[in-house]
Amino acid sequence: MTILLDELVTRALDRQAPTRDEALALLGDEVDVLDLVAAAGRVRRHFFGRRVKLNTIINMKSGMCPEDCNYCSQRLGSTSEILKYSWITPDEAADAADRAAQAGAKRICLVASGRGPAQRDIGRISDTIGAIKDKQPNVEICACLGLLKDGQADQLRDAGAYAYSHNLNTNEDNYADICSTHTFRDRVDTVNQATKAGMSSCSGAIFGMGESDDDIVSLAFELRELDPDSVPINFLIPMDGTPLGTDWHLTPERCLRILALYRLFFPDVEVRLAGGREIHLRGQQSLALHLANSIFLGDYLTSEGQTGDVDREMIIDAGFTIEGTDEQTLPDARHDLVAIRRRGTGTSVPSNT
Ligand code: SF4
Repeated sequence: MTILLDELVTRALDRQAPTRDEALALLGDEVDVLDLVAAAGRVRRHFFGRRVKLNTIINMKSGMCPEDCNYCSQRLGSTSEILKYSWITPDEAADAADRAAQAGAKRICLVASGRGPAQRDIGRISDTIGAIKDKQPNVEICACLGLLKDGQADQLRDAGAYAYSHNLNTNEDNYADICSTHTFRDRVDTVNQATKAGMSSCSGAIFGMGESDDDIVSLAFELRELDPDSVPINFLIPMDGTPLGTDWHLTPERCLRILALYRLFFPDVEVRLAGGREIHLRGQQSLALHLANSIFLGDYLTSEGQTGDVDREMIIDAGFTIEGTDEQTLPDARHDLVAIRRRGTGTSVPSNT
């Protein structure tokens, strides 16, 4: 089929997604990758200018997970030689968040291994959010704690979590191939709970796990149904000691095509270039900034990332700017859907009950 990139851009500016056939063609070699990056880059600049938002991950509890996600070094049975520890204290997390914020991070992602939080874990996270806010009142805090039980999203929102992150990772048909201990629908349910509780939802993908082009496109449509504010795009970090530890399928061009496709599917949404960018995009990372408007600063959950100095230099050299805490990330129309809580816990105003 003939792909008209200008037409796809026009539709994306109107928040319309490509069709399945168009999306599949973009993943093939019919369109030159640089033409595709240039087209999707116009959409990125329309909604996000040249700003790059920096986020940082704090791994609150590492390893020893009872779940069996094949891509994860913290999974049941993993022999990866990763750091393993139980919950760090709120003060340790607050110190790490403070350092990250001073280095430019606008969002702090509090992540913990496990199927989902126990009730006492919600208390720990609430204390941690309080400790972080004491030092850095303006950072956005995102919780990423696994599957939520009824009521936990409300509790996290009341504790001051701005966002909740839970990736779909791969499409529904493929899900049982990467995990047997929970389902795709379990994940969808948690994202919906977070959204319903009024948190900004963050849900994305991991590519490089043997998925087909059809799977990549199906996941884009499935994620669009959730209407997330943020879509992290991870490229598999194949860790020794995991079932996918030898899966090195990605090339820089493949990563760029996937990022461009997701920008066209999520024109006004924070497309966040996440784990694996250094090892798979390599020298093409700065091209990816024309597609993603957000990256992680510092290290990942269990593996190390590029240094902050190199990231900041890359952003400036590529002609982008680091988004400040006083700058709005999402375009107005989308931003207005999310009201930052200014009542209830942590304020002198009664809660919304
Ligand atoms: S992705 Fe999360 S739930 Fe799955 S094994 Fe890793 S830590 Fe556990």
